Amino acid sequence: MTIAGQIEQLIESLEGAATCDDCITDRLNLSVRSQANAVTRDLGDDKRFDRGKAPCGLCGSTKTVIRHRIM
Ligand SMILES: [Zn+2]
Repeated sequence: MTIAGQIEQLIESLEGAATCDDCITDRLNLSVRSQANAVTRDLGDDKRFDRGKAPCGLCGSTKTVIRHRIM
């Protein structure tokens, strides 16, 4: 599976909880954070996801996070 696919799956598995790029990087053992950032930036344009500044559900810091929009 591509990194983009893995990231999408991880965000969906959190069932609406917000997560930041750093937590995605940790969870998926990505080598660099910019990989997660490039993908979440794209997903932010997708109606299925919300991206913005909010507390991360995993690490608790307020930063740019992404969450799956439960319909
Ligand atoms: Zn986090």
